[in-house]
Amino acid sequence: MRFHRSEMSFMGYLLLLIGAAACAFWANDVVFGAVGGADEGDMALGMVALRVQLGLLCAAIVVGLFHFYPLIRKQAHEHVHWRQIAESLTMKTHTFQRAALTDPMTGLQNRRYFDDALAQYMEEFSRIGRPLGIMILDIDHFKSINDTHGHDIGDEVIKGLANTIKDYTRHHDIAARIGGEEFAVVAPNVGIAELDKMANRLRLAVSNLVFNLGGNVRLKITISVGIALWDGEETGSALYKRADENLYEAKRGGRNRVCA
Ligand code: GH3
Ligand code: MG
Ligand code: MG
Repeated sequence: MRFHRSEMSFMGYLLLLIGAAACAFWANDVVFGAVGGADEGDMALGMVALRVQLGLLCAAIVVGLFHFYPLIRKQAHEHVHWRQIAESLTMKTHTFQRAALTDPMTGLQNRRYFDDALAQYMEEFSRIGRPLGIMILDIDHFKSINDTHGHDIGDEVIKGLANTIKDYTRHHDIAARIGGEEFAVVAPNVGIAELDKMANRLRLAVSNLVFNLGGNVRLKITISVGIALWDGEETGSALYKRADENLYEAKRGGRNRVCA
């Protein structure tokens, strides 16, 4: 068994006190315990015992004040320090975890989070038998916006669209930026008609957005949306593929529309 330095110190300190107490008993025994009263020899021995006791007590005070107490203080400081480091590391871990699942440009979730959330919703909704839908949306002719107005304006458009998506989705919907100018939403508890209405509401809101580029230049955008309702059997990627095919259909049909 290995003892810590502070435990060794404490034991040393305790030994000094026990030694002092033993000397007190010894002195008491020699002086007052002598049969027929203490003679000169007993008194001299008692004095020796008292001096040893005094010496041990002084040593205990010195050790306590200059060794034991500073050691306890140091350890208390170290404890606080280590706790602060542990708390800071926990906070950093949470920040990293959040950052790993968030799109830094828009603050929406990223693809990884979207896939996990969809899988989790599917597991839950297969149990309770409620409908679950997704939509995928993509900005129309975004490349020409970048080409005409520059990449920075393109970024502003992406952020503007992300904010509109936040405004037009419900608390328990999962909205994510899937790729460059492509977004997806998991919409639980909606039938296909309601999902279609939701997607069209968002599409209309986006078509009414106006980006003021300065100098009387105003930019408007449209989006195409593909929606699909989970059939209760298919995998997440099969559901995603169906919504993506519907998005492609919306693009082929002339854009700025929702396809189911
Ligand atoms: P469609 O209507 O068929 O969707 O046409 P599109 O031009 O929107 O589609 P396309 O896939 O050809 O172009 C997407 C462009 O988005 C190309 C790419 O340079 C741009 N892009 C991707 N990520 C970003 C980004 O983070 N910021 C900006 N500004 N542009 C991006
Ligand atoms: Mg596009
Ligand atoms: Mg695209």
